[in-house]
Amino acid sequence: MGTIGSNLQEVRRRIEAACAKAARDVNTVTLLAVSKTFPPAALREAFAAGARAFGENYAQEALAKIDALADLRPLIEWHFIGPLQSNKTRPVAAAFDWVHSVDRLRIAQRLAEQRPADLPALNLCLQVNVSGEASKSGTAPADVPTLAAAVAALPGERVRLRGLMSIPEPNDDAARQRGQHRAVRELFVALRAAGHPLDTLSMGMSADLEAAILEGSTLVRVGSAIFGQRY
Ligand SMILES: *Cc1c(COP(=O)(O)O)cnc(C)c1O
Repeated sequence: MGTIGSNLQEVRRRIEAACAKAARDVNTVTLLAVSKTFPPAALREAFAAGARAFGENYAQEALAKIDALADLRPLIEWHFIGPLQSNKTRPVAAAFDWVHSVDRLRIAQRLAEQRPADLPALNLCLQVNVSGEASKSGTAPADVPTLAAAVAALPGERVRLRGLMSIPEPNDDAARQRGQHRAVRELFVALRAAGHPLDTLSMGMSADLEAAILEGSTLVRVGSAIFGQRY
């Protein structure tokens, strides 16, 4: 097995251990392989080792890879997880299955208008800026309920609101990591209580997937632990 295959095995082992610790079924956590900056050959290697969901950050780079892996398209779920400018929504709406980084209504509106009619609804997550860092994209927690209601009310059934995504402030302290994940989960629970049928809590990356799973993550986005260091 190549490096990517053995890395994937190790990440799956970490997910299993975290699920065991959290008394959760391992099938409730999806592994998203974050492949930004890596070439199509690396994605094929991950695919051969069982990866079926890939996350990409840059529209142009991603579209080229989706094209290069067109033979596998029916078997792969493509997730857009990077910042999205409103002038870049059209190709993303046509090529991806998910967008995790919706942080304003205008983006969701455009995705809904531009999602081709012959495809299933595009799955959306709202990105929450839980640490309040000015440099990070994402909606302030206090604004999430209003944005969720507006996105859920978009006409045409071309997008489907599935959940929340967050990128917490990097932190070596496990308790602080968990605190940030917990804040997102509480928001998620509140939205569900308000009637939104959400099922996806997209949180946890290479460094903090255990903390995220302990706080209820249903999808971990793992890049460097699978593909290696990005340069
Ligand atoms: C790059 C990226 C990841 C993966 O980060 P790693 O630390 O390499 O696992 C996850 N989520 C988002 C939004 C990213 O941009």
